[in-house]
Amino acid sequence: MQFRDVIGHTTLKRMLVRSADEGRVSHAQLFTGEAGCGALSLALAYAQYINCTDRHDGDSCGVCPSCRKMAELAHPDLNFVFPVNSPKGKGGSEKPLSDYFIAPWRELVKQSGGYFDEQQWYEAINIENQQGIISRAEADEIIRKLSFKSFEAEYKIMVIWLPEKMRTEAANTLLKILEEPWEKTLFLMVSESPARLLSTIVSRTQEVVVPRIELPDMEEYLIQKYGMEPTQASTIARLSTGNVLEANRIVEGGRNGENAENFDLFVQLMRLSYNDRHMELLEWAETVAALGREEQKRFLQNSIRLLRNSYMLHAGMGEIAYLWGDELAFCKKFAPFIGNHNIEALVREMELAAAQVAQNGNPKLIFAHFALTVSKLIVRL
Ligand SMILES: [Zn+2]
Repeated sequence: MQFRDVIGHTTLKRMLVRSADEGRVSHAQLFTGEAGCGALSLALAYAQYINCTDRHDGDSCGVCPSCRKMAELAHPDLNFVFPVNSPKGKGGSEKPLSDYFIAPWRELVKQSGGYFDEQQWYEAINIENQQGIISRAEADEIIRKLSFKSFEAEYKIMVIWLPEKMRTEAANTLLKILEEPWEKTLFLMVSESPARLLSTIVSRTQEVVVPRIELPDMEEYLIQKYGMEPTQASTIARLSTGNVLEANRIVEGGRNGENAENFDLFVQLMRLSYNDRHMELLEWAETVAALGREEQKRFLQNSIRLLRNSYMLHAGMGEIAYLWGDELAFCKKFAPFIGNHNIEALVREMELAAAQVAQNGNPKLIFAHFALTVSKLIVRL
């Protein structure tokens, strides 16, 4: 991974490049930041830069033998430790080591550019119902690996993702390693919760704080990745609060099964309502009544969100409406039907239905009454 593959963080990249160029490479560095802001990606770009044989223009070259192996995460001097576990019911009491999972790790890092969270990693290795850990055996393995000389690079690099997942014994072993720096060995730890690390470990590292991604950088990313219009990109960048995972969720969320279904149900309800199709409204109510209670509540919450946004579009406050894509297209057309005369009553109906659902009311009665009431509130212009 090159620095240019990492979204934003211009100042931080410059700082990392300068310290490497000046030979100020601290033997243990702790990249901290929430998942989705690029801490792992930066650590990987930095590792590649350190061992590149032809760095220039503030980045690794991307083509020298070292860069090529680093990009594949297959450099013999690049080691990884991350939280793992055995899938339920498999493996005995013995905890597996990171090396067993190196193939899915490489794949996830490459496919996501290093932007993924703990849960996505557990899903990638099929242990989503369990916690991953970094075991004592893993810490022994670190010592074993570091006892070899570096194979071909100047620095041997040990990347530890989520060191806060270390068991106490593992943390104590790591602490001993950090107390006596090994020559030409670099520890790059990437933590989401540094407060959960031993303070003695933290004090032996140099912290690299990775903040959230700035708005203009996020906009640029969205335009590049999804081919968005600048105004759309700007809305989603604001919504994502500088987190790539959040931005991707917003963009792709619109296409995931339940969201798309909730949106379709909302569109049907409103179309049938302004056309006064009572029989079909009752059929609609039957469909919604057949959903699970949690789904019904989410449908109602989502409908409130769409109504409020339609109201803002109608009131000429489109720039603060958080909509895009199909939702934006529909709500723009629908906005004229939502105004001061009905927005509050509509939201109240949705909240009432949600409360009745929560109290285990009869869903058929709740939604039949709800659909007919909404229909009265949506008046043809
Ligand atoms: Zn290179």
